[in-house]
Amino acid sequence: MAKVILIALGGNAIKQSNEKGSSEEQFKNCWKTTKHISEIIKNLDQEDRLIITHGNGPQVGNLMVQQKLAQDTVPAHPMDVVGAMTQGQIGYMLQQTLMNHLKKMDLDVPVCAIINQVLVDKNDPEFFGEKASKPVGNFLTAEEAKEMKENNPQYIIKQVKPNGERCWRRTVPSPDPIANLEANVIKKLVAAGVVVIASGGGGIPVLEDEEGNYQGIEAVIDKDLAGERLAEIVGADIFLILTDVEEAKINYGKVNEKSLGKITFQKAKQYFDEGHFLAGSMGPKVKACLRFLENGGKKAIITSLDKALEALKEQSGTIIEKD
Ligand code: ADP
Ligand code: MG
Repeated sequence: MAKVILIALGGNAIKQSNEKGSSEEQFKNCWKTTKHISEIIKNLDQEDRLIITHGNGPQVGNLMVQQKLAQDTVPAHPMDVVGAMTQGQIGYMLQQTLMNHLKKMDLDVPVCAIINQVLVDKNDPEFFGEKASKPVGNFLTAEEAKEMKENNPQYIIKQVKPNGERCWRRTVPSPDPIANLEANVIKKLVAAGVVVIASGGGGIPVLEDEEGNYQGIEAVIDKDLAGERLAEIVGADIFLILTDVEEAKINYGKVNEKSLGKITFQKAKQYFDEGHFLAGSMGPKVKACLRFLENGGKKAIITSLDKALEALKEQSGTIIEKD
């Protein structure tokens, strides 16, 4: 039976944490990443479909630094525009490297990255008071944090580390994704057999104003939760989250830490409710997997890039299925 797979790529797939983030480095990482993806495509049946989404945290961080340093010469852009810029950048890199692999393998599969907006609710709790939860940009000293606040009174700046010299960061809302605005186009492309790269960086966050117009907003959407919305749209059977660990773990970081293999929805939900998966990293991944299964998905997998093929054959990774 034909299957639809959605792959969500983590930050590592594009920029390693020890790298500065030159184009050369990022193309090299994308090349490795899309090599794995091309192997997956080679293993698909004619009727199967593949969709890709990806993070953009490190790229947004770098672009914000560039803009800050150059702001007296060239105006800085708001976060929705920066989101669109990085969607374009990463989409281009993934699209080109994947095309090159497919060409070498003589596989005639079209690939296309799209600029993609995701609707959020202006009443989302993340927009109120100091509830914003997603740190962005550089770590700041207490003094730099104070200066940033003076220059940008609307910013929320939070202490994100208990101690050290630089423990402050600008923090922006991370609202829950409601709907993918380019859903219909994506569906058509996928049905036509295009490998679509969409919802990059969680999508460009937009609100609907009183007159019904969409408008960008300074926020960041979690890419795994937005990826789940994308999976719903295309009716994905398998949601494959590729990150830098082979499995999700319970008792993470403790002496009794244990890797999770194949588990039921109920078990995963229980572990999630018990708080085994940290907020902002593994937490939203497991939450996205649970949502996916609740919304009719068949199988959700969390694993590393190099284990992706094995995990699809159920030989690796954390695999969550409805009981
Ligand atoms: P990505 O950039 O791929 O989205 P994240 O850094 O957001 O990746 O999430 C992956 C990280 O989640 C792992 O490297 C690990 O440090 C962290 N993590 C938090 N809780 C867990 C857990 N219970 N099991 C495994 N990893 C966890
Ligand atoms: Mg992440």
